[in-house]
Amino acid sequence: MGNPFPKAGPIVKFWKKHGSHTVSFVRLMDIPLLKKLPDVDMQNQILKDRKLETCTNPISLQDIRTLKELYRLKSETRDLREPLVRNIMKRRVVGQQCIESLKNALYSLETIHIDDYTGQRVLSLDGKKQIEVDLTYEIRELRKDIYYLEYGEDHFINYLGKFIPNFRSHLNEGIAMLRGKRFNAFITDRDGTTNNYCGRYRSSIQPIYNAVFLSRFAKNCCNFPIFITSAPLRDFGILNVSINPEDIFYYAGSKGREFISPDGAFHTYPIDEEKQQRIQLLNDRLRLLLENPNFEKFNFIGSALQLKFGQTTVARQDITHSINADESSAFLEKVKGIVREIDPEKRIFRIEDTGLDIEIILTIDTDGHDSLKDFDKGDGLEFICRSLGIKTPEGPNLVCGDTSSDIPMLEKAMEICGDVWAIFVTKDKKLEKRVKSICPQSMIVPSPDILLTMLGLLSL
Ligand SMILES: [Mg+2]
Repeated sequence: MGNPFPKAGPIVKFWKKHGSHTVSFVRLMDIPLLKKLPDVDMQNQILKDRKLETCTNPISLQDIRTLKELYRLKSETRDLREPLVRNIMKRRVVGQQCIESLKNALYSLETIHIDDYTGQRVLSLDGKKQIEVDLTYEIRELRKDIYYLEYGEDHFINYLGKFIPNFRSHLNEGIAMLRGKRFNAFITDRDGTTNNYCGRYRSSIQPIYNAVFLSRFAKNCCNFPIFITSAPLRDFGILNVSINPEDIFYYAGSKGREFISPDGAFHTYPIDEEKQQRIQLLNDRLRLLLENPNFEKFNFIGSALQLKFGQTTVARQDITHSINADESSAFLEKVKGIVREIDPEKRIFRIEDTGLDIEIILTIDTDGHDSLKDFDKGDGLEFICRSLGIKTPEGPNLVCGDTSSDIPMLEKAMEICGDVWAIFVTKDKKLEKRVKSICPQSMIVPSPDILLTMLGLLSL
């Protein structure tokens, strides 16, 4: 490979008088442009790497009246935050314009109309119907990011401590437990564990401080940092809401049935090819349906459309019943019609309607073994470890979760991994007992921010 750097131009030396001293300094004269670069790809990579992208996606103050506008703003905050995390990880300065942009986003949310009677913020769903929205997550996490950027990490940690009871004692306990360890695998759930819980998945964009703490820990203290979530991988999934630098984490969606490595390699749990094609067809049809102005509101309520591997979920109602009952039933019939067209013999799909969500699940061949058992995060973990060739007996390994759906992941880790440590984020005493009985080397904390700060401090 040729030298990627162009030859420097002439070096000119200058002298300047400073008081009684004469100071010399050099200046690189203009670097001559090379007509043909020795290796254009590498050159571009270096330029891309060195470019100081402080605020390429500024956010202006906005008047948010619809859910669609809310999600557009949330996606803008993702585009703004992602390069910022990369810059912070590379110890670059964050420009004032970025902080101003985050403040614009925050103010745009804070000024969303509040209903006089209920005291709740309301947004329009389709120009006709108003629905109540709880923006606690969005507003709180933006405030934290602004504080983090304006005052720095030490002050930020003190700030967190103001709101969380026994913050310091939890931190000290965790740090004493894990200090000095380098983990082989770091296996973690996202929502409720490393990310504060948010009712609308599409809105749960990862905050900057969160990404810095987690990515630094993953990079400095772990060989295989792996997220395992029940949500899909993409469209719309964990990749759409995460802002960790892309070369650090392994992301597994659909409980581990699909995952992507930091180098972009994509792995899926084997599914029969014909079934795979049919579910692809179904997903394309549903996406098209939700682009239709008559049905686009279903993009913005509850679970919305989730294309999981081996299962597709689409919401027809949410817990506050934002959709008119007849409209919701008509949408269900429309979806059933599409499924019938793709699978007239009812061989491929099973439909489950919860009243809120329509779940369309691939049928399991009855002649296959394990066919009666639902796929859980433990199966996902085993599949990932096998696919990546992780030497699981090598410890220590760290498992983090927050609900009973993370228990199979911990049990599997105890079965196949050596020297397992666990941190669960919960206030549920029963779950706490279960975690401790499965994994004696465990700790319970009451909030994701404690876990995050602990990991962030352990990686310094
Ligand atoms: Mg969770």
